Amino acid sequence: MYFCGVQQIPPEYIRKIIHVDMDAFYASVEQRDHPELRGKPVAVGGSKERGVVAAASYEARKFGVHSALASAIAYRQCPQLIFIKPDFEKYRSVSKQIRAIFLEYTSLVEPLSLDEAYLDVTENKKGIATATRIARQIRERIFEETQLTASAGISINKFMAKVASDYHKPNGQKTIMPEEVLPFLEELPIGKFFGVGKKTAEKMKKLGIHYGRDLKKWDQALLVREFGKSGVHYYNIVRGLQKSEVKPNRIRKSIGAERTFSQNLNSQTEMLEALTGIGQKLAERITAAKASGKTVTLKLKYENFETHTRSQTLNAYTQSSQEILAAAQKLLLENGPNQAVRLLGITLSNLKPAQSKAKSVQLTLDF
Ligand SMILES: [Mg+2]
Repeated sequence: MYFCGVQQIPPEYIRKIIHVDMDAFYASVEQRDHPELRGKPVAVGGSKERGVVAAASYEARKFGVHSALASAIAYRQCPQLIFIKPDFEKYRSVSKQIRAIFLEYTSLVEPLSLDEAYLDVTENKKGIATATRIARQIRERIFEETQLTASAGISINKFMAKVASDYHKPNGQKTIMPEEVLPFLEELPIGKFFGVGKKTAEKMKKLGIHYGRDLKKWDQALLVREFGKSGVHYYNIVRGLQKSEVKPNRIRKSIGAERTFSQNLNSQTEMLEALTGIGQKLAERITAAKASGKTVTLKLKYENFETHTRSQTLNAYTQSSQEILAAAQKLLLENGPNQAVRLLGITLSNLKPAQSKAKSVQLTLDF
């Protein structure tokens, strides 16, 4: 659609979406509650011998410590790193406080995790004219009530809002105005596009697609030929065409964790060890979601990129990390991969249904 020579996004694709993302959430909560940790490199997560980092303070990030990094590696990179055991009860309750603030502005709040949510403020409860002002107010309110900082991205759809929230992090916000969306997308590196994973980004680069502007030169049929159904998505997203329905009561169907290895794993011993780390990450997510489930699925991606999954359904609902890990390890041993593995993942599905409406809200991750 063109007006006065300027390319336009059709109005039905324009909402006022805010993506709010707490800054180093778990680590910031711990620094808030333990003043002796302030200004220090802190990792919330497993011990330094085993396990993974769930969140790293900004001081720790300077040493390359980030979430999902094996604690042992984090410790090597930053020997003065202080490890703190996560307290999900506490994070959940802070999350609820923050969510209550969101709900004063709009009912359309979609939590992505304990520390992130999308808000649709196209029509907001306070009649505030701009989403930018709402985001600023919300961040101020969060700070007043929790002494924690949040960053926000504001734009026409979820994807753009999420890209924007990363821009002035920590404790900042960025608005990408409707007329700025298309030029912004042209300059955006392909790996930052919603739905473009590492593997797809590699493939796109081989095809000469490095930025949005390169992607835009491809017509839809060609993209579909190269990328299947996702081709349609790539074609639309670079044109700002994403319908962003913010779903307030998103109910999870599964919870998973996976890891791609920088070097393929060859031996079963290495694979079993890696599973332990993934199992811990998953256990943290299960605890955060207060979920339990019956089916454990092991995902393996081989060096030739073929993906296989193996599942086992347990007799009863479980949230026990040991039980889930044991099932995943059993699935690995039973299907003894005879090729090197580049990715492993564990998913818990067949989640326990909510007993009441109140419970079903709890099943989602409260924000
Ligand atoms: Mg965050």
